[in-house]
Amino acid sequence: MNSLNKPVSYHIWTVGCQMNKADSGKVESVFSKWGLQPVSDPGSADVIVLNSCVVRKKAENRVLSKLGDLRALKKKNPGVAILLTGCLVDSQVGELRHQFPHVDLFFGPGRISDLMDWSRTNGLFGGTGSSGEAPSESSTSAYVNVIEGCDNFCSYCIVPYRRGREKSRPKEDILCEVTELARRGVREITLLGQNIDSYGHDLPQTTDLADLLREVNGADGLDRIRFLTSHPKDMKLKLINAISCLDKVCEHINLPVQSGSDEILRSMRRGYSASQYLELIGLIRKSISGVALSTDVIVGYPGETEKQFLETFNLLEQVRFDTVHVAAYSHRPGTWAAVNLKDEVPLEVKKERLNRIEDFQKNVSLEINRKLEGEVLQVLVERKAGEKWMGRTRTDKLVFFQSATGNFSGNIVSVKINRAGPWSLTGELAEEDCIAAA
Ligand code: SF4
Repeated sequence: MNSLNKPVSYHIWTVGCQMNKADSGKVESVFSKWGLQPVSDPGSADVIVLNSCVVRKKAENRVLSKLGDLRALKKKNPGVAILLTGCLVDSQVGELRHQFPHVDLFFGPGRISDLMDWSRTNGLFGGTGSSGEAPSESSTSAYVNVIEGCDNFCSYCIVPYRRGREKSRPKEDILCEVTELARRGVREITLLGQNIDSYGHDLPQTTDLADLLREVNGADGLDRIRFLTSHPKDMKLKLINAISCLDKVCEHINLPVQSGSDEILRSMRRGYSASQYLELIGLIRKSISGVALSTDVIVGYPGETEKQFLETFNLLEQVRFDTVHVAAYSHRPGTWAAVNLKDEVPLEVKKERLNRIEDFQKNVSLEINRKLEGEVLQVLVERKAGEKWMGRTRTDKLVFFQSATGNFSGNIVSVKINRAGPWSLTGELAEEDCIAAA
């Protein structure tokens, strides 16, 4: 830290899901209230926050390696404050303290109040700010947490142990945050929850995600609303109808299937069968015109046979998702699967299954995207990426276009698609937007 022992700069390193990104946004907001400036180089920061993820072994290894780097940094500069948050921080903080003595504060996911207590105790700042406030930076899109934790305890998942049981935020708080973000120029909101479809069940008033979407849809200045992550067993017709009717809610749903084998789904404790999942997909497609679908899949779950893997593969062939996120199973200590099952599928088999899905999906995504060539799409522009502008369609397709004039950040423009790839589309401004930019 500087000579007055008051930090003036910070660096945040975030790994993992959108929930972590949203939590980091809140930390930034508190730091900005305290007058701290962000720096891109951790070596020149007075405070470093590491927002960790342990959902997969690979993510955890990255976090542990970063903690190793920070140990060396702390040795060189003992004044730097190192704060660890995210899913690596569980209730066993004593054990973590022993393992990582160079960390000054451990605070659980989203526990901004612990950060403020630490600041007060150390006489750094008055500790103003709250865990529910909107991120300070104004940008085109923002995340808003609506429900924390998860009650599902899927056999492989560490989240309920680290983020706790489901806790919905009162609707009024959420609306207040959304209104403030829209006032600052945010045009797209993504509502977040580990299991967002169960929003509201624990609140005193009767409400659910469909009701919340309806109210957020009424916020002035906002153009688009998204939400993540859905659970097939909790996605009801009322929600599907809300997506289909509300003009700002985008036609894109991420609906993790995880496996196409009923035996594996049962062992995973997912609460639905492959045929129920397919039925739900049919209903969504019938109800929401032009909907884009993405999913998550785990390969190499304990005991997964080639036949069970092929059932997953067949389901993907049947649905033809726009996007598939595939991960190789890894034991997460403390979960039901880690305690009761053997991680017996060899790594090379997991990799081979993962590659088979990725290769297949690459072609499917390309075929779906090629149908968009020649079409004019509405793109919400996020930022400039090199020489090109980058934005997204309502269906979450990434679009790049070039323009020598104009600043398109935060605008919705019409882009004529010239070329489609599996992961993105490239085009040019449609005529009317060229004229506006000139
Ligand atoms: S629904 Fe299952 S996979 Fe998703 S966060 Fe909850 S326990 Fe984890």
